[in-house]
Amino acid sequence: MTATLSGKTYLNLIGGDWKDINGGNMLEDHNPADHGEVVGLFPMATLEDTKTAIDAAHSALSAWRKTPAPARGAILDKASQIISTRLDEIAKTLTLEEGKTFAEARGEVMRARDIFKYYSGEGWHANGQVLPTSVNDELLYTRHEPLGVVSIITPWNFPIAIPAWKIAPALIYGDTVIFKPAEDAPLTALMLVEALVEAGLPPGVINFLTGDGALIGTEMASNPLVNGVSFTGSHTVGAQVYQNAIKNMARVQLEMGGKNALVILKDADLNLSVDLAMRGGFGLTGQACTATSRVIVEKEIADAFVTALTTATKNLVVGNGLESGVQMGPLVNRDQLQTSQSYIELGKQEGAKLLIGGEVDEQHGYFAQATIFDYVNPNMRIAQEEIFGPVISVIRAKDLNDAIEKTNAISFGLSAGVVTNNLKNAFAFANQVDAGVIKINEPTTGVALNAPFGGFKNSSANTFKEQGQAAMDFYTRTKTIYVNHG
Ligand code: NAD
Repeated sequence: MTATLSGKTYLNLIGGDWKDINGGNMLEDHNPADHGEVVGLFPMATLEDTKTAIDAAHSALSAWRKTPAPARGAILDKASQIISTRLDEIAKTLTLEEGKTFAEARGEVMRARDIFKYYSGEGWHANGQVLPTSVNDELLYTRHEPLGVVSIITPWNFPIAIPAWKIAPALIYGDTVIFKPAEDAPLTALMLVEALVEAGLPPGVINFLTGDGALIGTEMASNPLVNGVSFTGSHTVGAQVYQNAIKNMARVQLEMGGKNALVILKDADLNLSVDLAMRGGFGLTGQACTATSRVIVEKEIADAFVTALTTATKNLVVGNGLESGVQMGPLVNRDQLQTSQSYIELGKQEGAKLLIGGEVDEQHGYFAQATIFDYVNPNMRIAQEEIFGPVISVIRAKDLNDAIEKTNAISFGLSAGVVTNNLKNAFAFANQVDAGVIKINEPTTGVALNAPFGGFKNSSANTFKEQGQAAMDFYTRTKTIYVNHG
């Protein structure tokens, strides 16, 4: 049996079998650029299905953890090659169900391919340390053993890259997985699972469930057979996941929202500043956890910057991400569109000055104009709360210290950037800003696949970092072994 039941009807994967579960009760996956179009129909997994999937992951654990890590890596490498072969097809699907432009989608699928390639090599890397010892004839060493059964719960905004950066390390370090993608973009996620199955992943090592996030996700976090939960999504849901996982003392990794600032100092290159604000604020339709939603500008160059940013925004082409020339796609669904719309209304009521944009159009798709507010007060709700849409709030600052203070005056701490040619100021910013990712003369969005990633404050549970070798800390547990051979 394959992942497709018929036409656009897809299946779930439990214990190695693609299953048509829950008697045909289906989740509809829509195209946000044309909401009449159904991209796919997916099963609504039940509580029983979820428990069966967790049992399957538990049963598969003992053989998978004994599989030599290089052999696990070979499967990841093969999956990377399959993703590469299907690159354009997966990218097109991603645009169809999530809305980002085809170029953005292609970049994301390439990232997933590279993540699997990177972690395939991890199978050959050192696992543990040999330590000095004060006892004669003693060998003292550590080894990293698999954490066990891991639940992976992901959002819709990076429907293949985020699953890849959680699933690839889980598998290479010997864990088995229950994976639940977001309701709005399950087909791209299914293609990732298909690549792993085709690459030879044994039955039960990955299980794939779709449906009601609260129902499936609650069981995935609270089931006693689950040893770890890696979640990316909103702070509200992340807090519930934490509460559920902690009951069994399961290990938790939560990466959540952001309200990221790009600071522009008076010596900054104006063209670069505008380019970074546009890429960070309107790239991916503002639907990135690291998106620039606040631009904090030193007062001396604020007028020139705002004029140049408004001019550039006027030329931004908004539309269906599959059409050539389109630079910004739609919001993912009606809820996201309405959230952006309500924050735009709020910004006006709060007294911020609307420079451009502000209109939405949901006749065919969920389209919003790129929007800029000026003279935003840092205490306004539009400057404090995550909007997750193409809305930039410009905040004027007196000097560097004032800019740093304003950057830090929020409950989130994911990413922050500064544009400057002054090294001293750049390092002052890097050292004093309370965020997990700092960018100097780069957009607040975009991260390296081999570097630790994660936020501070309410952007994260502040437990374990994701990506690169830092992922090993979450997906393994360390055993210390004393051998007296005297
Ligand atoms: P969301 O919190 O609504 O959903 C995330 C996932 O949780 C989905 O798969 C959903 O089905 C599932 N879920 C829903 N209720 C659940 C429950 N009670 N228990 C367990 N799981 C449940 O988030 P979203 O709207 O899909 O994504 C947008 C959010 O994700 C934004 O806040 C964004 O900042 C954040 N995000 C963070 C990062 C990061 O790395 N920090 C990256 C991307 C997105």
